[in-house]
Amino acid sequence: MKANSRWYEETIGKLEPYKSSLSKREQKKYQLDLLERVSRRVAEFNEECGECQLFQQEITAYVNELGNMVHLSDNTRRKQYRRRLKQTVRHLQSQHKLVPKGHHVGLWISIGTGIGVAIGAAMGKTGVGIPIGIAIGVAIGMMLDARAKKEDRVI
Ligand SMILES: [Zn+2]
Repeated sequence: MKANSRWYEETIGKLEPYKSSLSKREQKKYQLDLLERVSRRVAEFNEECGECQLFQQEITAYVNELGNMVHLSDNTRRKQYRRRLKQTVRHLQSQHKLVPKGHHVGLWISIGTGIGVAIGAAMGKTGVGIPIGIAIGVAIGMMLDARAKKEDRVI
């Protein structure tokens, strides 16, 4: 665990100059925030999970290449990494029971819309049902997101 937390701190340290020099938009483009959050999780599971070890190596490669990517605006490489980062998040979700930020609200808005359609159909007024359904969905989603956050399960 010590080696991993050292790796995490090093990774954050390497990202620091980019966070202070790149614009907010560019930081988003290179997903620096997500990268940090994913790094913390991957470091956490590294010892018990081979895939997380692999992701950890890839994050290190990403961070080391970041300077070049920014300098050359290498979009091909950036998109490759974006895809891998997405896979990492998916792995953290399926294997380690974590959830992305705002996951439940997004999910429950669509469930709520379905419920709203049913409510609307029952009342004979579709236009009235949908906003009610969405409101229910947002309320449930926010509750579940808050719980996930409290349990430290949010990526
Ligand atoms: Zn893992």
